[in-house]
Amino acid sequence: MIASGAAPTPGTHQPGGIRWSRSSRWRAAALVLVNLLMIAHVIQWRVAGKTISPIEPSETMHTLQRGAVNAGFIFFSLAILATLIFGRFVCGWGCHILALQDFCAWLMKKIGITPKPFRSRLLVYVPLIAALYMFVWPTAYRLFAGGDTGPLIPKFTNHLVTSNFWDTFPSAGVAIPFLFICGFVTVYFLGAKGFCTYACPYGGFFGLADKIAPWKIRVTDACNQCGHCTATCTSNVLVHAEVRDFKMVVDPGCMKCLDCVSVCPNDALYLGFGKPAFAVSKSRGAARSYSLTWPEEIAGAMIFLASFLAVRGVYSLVPFLMALGCAAVTTFLALRGWRLVRATDLYLHRFNLKSSGVIHAAGWMLLVFAICWVGLVAHSGWIRFQEYAGNNAFQKIQVPDELALAQVDPVRWISPAERENIAEGRKHLEAASRLGLFGNGDALSKLGWFEYLSGNADRAADLLGNAANHQKRQAKALSHYYRGAILNRLGRYAEAAASLREALDERDDLILARQEEGESFWQLGRKDEAILAWADAVDRNSNLSLTNNFLAGAKRMQGADQEAAHYEMQADQATPDVALYHWMLGQRLKHVGMNDLAGKHFQRALTLDPSLQQQSE
Ligand code: SF4
Ligand code: SF4
Ligand code: SF4
Repeated sequence: MIASGAAPTPGTHQPGGIRWSRSSRWRAAALVLVNLLMIAHVIQWRVAGKTISPIEPSETMHTLQRGAVNAGFIFFSLAILATLIFGRFVCGWGCHILALQDFCAWLMKKIGITPKPFRSRLLVYVPLIAALYMFVWPTAYRLFAGGDTGPLIPKFTNHLVTSNFWDTFPSAGVAIPFLFICGFVTVYFLGAKGFCTYACPYGGFFGLADKIAPWKIRVTDACNQCGHCTATCTSNVLVHAEVRDFKMVVDPGCMKCLDCVSVCPNDALYLGFGKPAFAVSKSRGAARSYSLTWPEEIAGAMIFLASFLAVRGVYSLVPFLMALGCAAVTTFLALRGWRLVRATDLYLHRFNLKSSGVIHAAGWMLLVFAICWVGLVAHSGWIRFQEYAGNNAFQKIQVPDELALAQVDPVRWISPAERENIAEGRKHLEAASRLGLFGNGDALSKLGWFEYLSGNADRAADLLGNAANHQKRQAKALSHYYRGAILNRLGRYAEAAASLREALDERDDLILARQEEGESFWQLGRKDEAILAWADAVDRNSNLSLTNNFLAGAKRMQGADQEAAHYEMQADQATPDVALYHWMLGQRLKHVGMNDLAGKHFQRALTLDPSLQQQSE
């Protein structure tokens, strides 16, 4: 009902008598434009091979941690500055995730479901805590930990243009569930701005900046408290109460969509400069109703934390933002499922879940869905624990890669304590790989290395090949490299050459892969190609001891003694005078038939440490 102002006019008013928002069409156009620009950005990169780095706030982490100044950092800084003055316009008019949430809410309305806001007192702090963790914690950690954690203020470098545009984005297999969970699922269970309210870390900072902004939605005396503004707001703001109590909208959740301004029948709302929100007393504010009791709030906070830790990074797939979205949904489902069991009557949207103590079909559906969802999260938590424990063991490995890769069975160089650690790590990662629902490239590559160190080189090569299938460029290149190196030790040179080629296709600068590729060629009798590969590696880095030795041996065999002497001198300058290092060089040179050079290094190794004689027998 309209209390006063213009009478409802067909076509300009909704069935309930509230005016249609004129600004929503402009906002929809702006959000469509944002999405089109994002698509154009990707196309331009695919065509040109190079583009402006992602205009995505999360990229700011690379600036704060590594000093890489990128477009995301500039965008986020400008967005916060703009919010400090004008409020959260960037959220309302420029965010693709908000566009997704609006689209989902619009679709739901089409099928008769109006998303209802889930109101929690404690979970609203999640975005700010997440923002502090993402953007402040890394610097704070360096400040307090000091030492080798890197400089407090990193050296800034220019990363405004990139050819590896997609490196920091998830694959389509992750992006689609991400959009589904952070769009439909959060909107359905938590409300039209569910992801913004309970998960988005950028919103944490935007909300804080909004409190300082002097440009606010304000009210004139024409307001008669009809409530159309509140009924229209999809950000869960009690507009009529706020303008009554504060003469402006103070809720930092206001995204400045301007729907309330547009629907006000008395044109009582306007945008104007004045006192910021933090300057007015909150004590007069209208009492809010909440969806949870205090015990539920506390249980909810614990469920949120546990489910966030369970899913974050599981299978090396679930990114930070998606984990926050999953945790918010898990909290809702766990608490609503519990209430469904205990309550006598319960509704969700327009669905009657339970009445007079009897659970209806809709209630059973929700219960089954909640049990499956929470079960899946619990299973992810178990997998995550196995991955975490395996990773911990991996970090404790002490045997250097060069020594481990000196010959096919490195077990003799591994101490009993380290063997136990390797067995422990292998057990955890084996369990994760056997019972996991998805392949985890990162865990598989570590498991591959555990297998290699345990003397199972063939299985290690298989696992590393499998790992590469699940990994992105940088990690994929490393898995191919290690697989190639192991295959070389196993004498499977053609397969090794193919694997190393794949490593170099992913990362042309992986010099060790070039060195190994030279070895594969050499063993396959493609001597000229081997020398070219080694020479290329040495051109890129003249301090490669083993590669210089290979070149010295190869040139000596060709009778090019002068060149051989040059490479041998370069090799000696780059070789640390450490017994095991000389032993490793001897082993590798013996493997390719460069026995004179091999003998020289074995001799030096035994001079430095006579006990090696026993160990190497
Ligand atoms: S809070 Fe986050 S997801 Fe929501 S509109 Fe703002 S930036 Fe986008
Ligand atoms: S500001 Fe809100 S409550 Fe006041 S008249 Fe306008 S729509 Fe009604
Ligand atoms: S208070 Fe008004 S401008 Fe702010 S989000 Fe709600 S409807 Fe949009």
